[in-house]
Amino acid sequence: MPEAPKNSDYNLIEKNNKSLEFIENVTANADEVQKKVLGEILSRNAHVDYLQRHGLNGHTDRDTFKKLMPVITYEDIQNDISRIANGDTSPILCSKPISEFLTSSGTSGGERKLMPTIEEELDRRSLLYSLLMPVMSQFVPGLDKGKGMYFLFIKSEAKTPGGLVARPVLTSYYKSSHFKNRPFDPYTNYTSPNETILCPDSYQSMYSQMLCGLCQNKEVLRVGAVFASGFIRAIRFLEKHWPLLVNDIRTGTIDRQIIDPSVREAVMKILKPDPKLADFIENECSKVSWQGIITRLWPNTKYVDVIVTGTMSQYIPTLDYYSNSLPLVCTMYASSECYFGVNINPLCKPSEVSYTLIPTMAYFEFLPVHRNNGVTNSISMPKSLNEKEQQDLVDLADVKLGQEYELVVTTYAGLYRYRVGDVLRVAGFKNKAPQFNFICRKNVVLSIDSDKTDEVELQNAIKNAVNHLMPFDATLAEYTSYADTTTIPGHYVLYWELTLNGTTPIPPSVFEDCCLTMEESLNSVYRQGRVSDKSIGPLEIKIVETGTFDKLMDYAISLGASINQYKTPRCVKFAPIVELLNSKVISSYFSPKCPKWVPGHKQWNNNNKATTRIEEINGKATL
Ligand code: AMP
Repeated sequence: MPEAPKNSDYNLIEKNNKSLEFIENVTANADEVQKKVLGEILSRNAHVDYLQRHGLNGHTDRDTFKKLMPVITYEDIQNDISRIANGDTSPILCSKPISEFLTSSGTSGGERKLMPTIEEELDRRSLLYSLLMPVMSQFVPGLDKGKGMYFLFIKSEAKTPGGLVARPVLTSYYKSSHFKNRPFDPYTNYTSPNETILCPDSYQSMYSQMLCGLCQNKEVLRVGAVFASGFIRAIRFLEKHWPLLVNDIRTGTIDRQIIDPSVREAVMKILKPDPKLADFIENECSKVSWQGIITRLWPNTKYVDVIVTGTMSQYIPTLDYYSNSLPLVCTMYASSECYFGVNINPLCKPSEVSYTLIPTMAYFEFLPVHRNNGVTNSISMPKSLNEKEQQDLVDLADVKLGQEYELVVTTYAGLYRYRVGDVLRVAGFKNKAPQFNFICRKNVVLSIDSDKTDEVELQNAIKNAVNHLMPFDATLAEYTSYADTTTIPGHYVLYWELTLNGTTPIPPSVFEDCCLTMEESLNSVYRQGRVSDKSIGPLEIKIVETGTFDKLMDYAISLGASINQYKTPRCVKFAPIVELLNSKVISSYFSPKCPKWVPGHKQWNNNNKATTRIEEINGKATL
């Protein structure tokens, strides 16, 4: 006979039901909730500079809002953001004080965009997080009976000239009391103690989280990281460092490279000498094949919780290999601007993931996206919108099944009709709220981790790099690029076809200089990935035979491309094309060192070079 539920089980069931009811209610009344959210945002902020400037004059209704307020991108509010960053505390965008800036992985002028936020937004983020496990436990029972092994990290932060902290949204969240002082909850019971997550040194943080995950291996029911790339990095770390970790488990002591006292203390509360477990891990890790290593080392794992939608889908085969095809679960969709929604059918296939936007998070609008006809099927998205296009935006409850849209948000923290830059497709509805497939981030051609490089940035980096070829009377005839994720970490590959007019051979060091110049020219998120996070490997230039790009065109035409409309793709993904390019490679070169990077914006002249140096040193020695 099944055991009668205990009191704590009842509480959990009740809590789960409340969260699920919340989702039912807000999705059933999506339009009313959205109207209320917009009314609230506009009435609270009636007197802020930005709304007055556009003549909103205290109106809080949708029609007036849509008529008067422009649909904008970051550049349109850059002056307002700079005023706040420089210390102007008057209500410019929001009536509540801006508590900090969240540094987006989207960039403007090569620097991370700064998203204003207010204290209460932490409650909204927490609310979204609180929905995830109640949804999940409808599909996977018993998740309260064990732990989650999540690799979570903080990143470096900077101060604006006006004294506001600027840091990524997750760093802000993990450092908040919402996370640090969360009451015990079986669903936020992680193998990593807070101290290991909050350790600013990436090697010590990863090492201690892996150690704690290994020594509690039987308790682990789910594993994950935020993005797929982060989780694969953790496995790679284990591949490199398992002998040290095994030694620690055998002896019950922590490796001496872990010097952070709070980390050591937290780990020592968990670590006990366990020679049997050490033997087991050693045996598994020393096998030639690492296929299914997740299920071997953490045998009770039911799923891998990582985002594999968008560009992260490139990691699905690797995750399948390491996890013996456990379900890959994408639970949520969020950004620095605002947290958006949850996946209410989390066990679906990665290709079918859709996110239900939660109507209380912000006021959402949708700009219809039109695909260019023809083979390119590229997405056309005007930079600025004319009046008619501004009127074309539709509300959350009015989007059409199958149609693609660009997401536009109005947030409690002071963004009004702000284009997030993501393209979504309506996949279905939960009650009256649409569910969206994530299609892509507009304009991004290359991405390995959280870096997002667009075509213009790539072109500019190449322009700078080819200067090195001038003394050799060589020019770049054609190029394309590829995000190579077969290496860990992944790296950018550039295929170059050269026209050589000179007779002096070009020495390898010149091509290496080209690689480094490209890296120096890429945006700060890319360079941070290279320098601090070590999440991106050195950029590679592959020189291909003369005539390769003609072959590429022939191939595209054989697949149906029109000869008149054919343009060299600036990024390739299709495996046969990558194979074709690789078969024509004459020589290849890697960037010989890391590009320069310091936390914060270059204009701020932050006095944080010391922090960077420490990170650099630690990073080099370790990860
Ligand atoms: P950031 O502003 O740096 O936090 O990055 C937010 C961006 O990451 C979003 O606008 C998306 O482009 C991307 N992103 C976040 N969550 C997901 C997801 N679940 N699937 C695909 N892309 C995502």
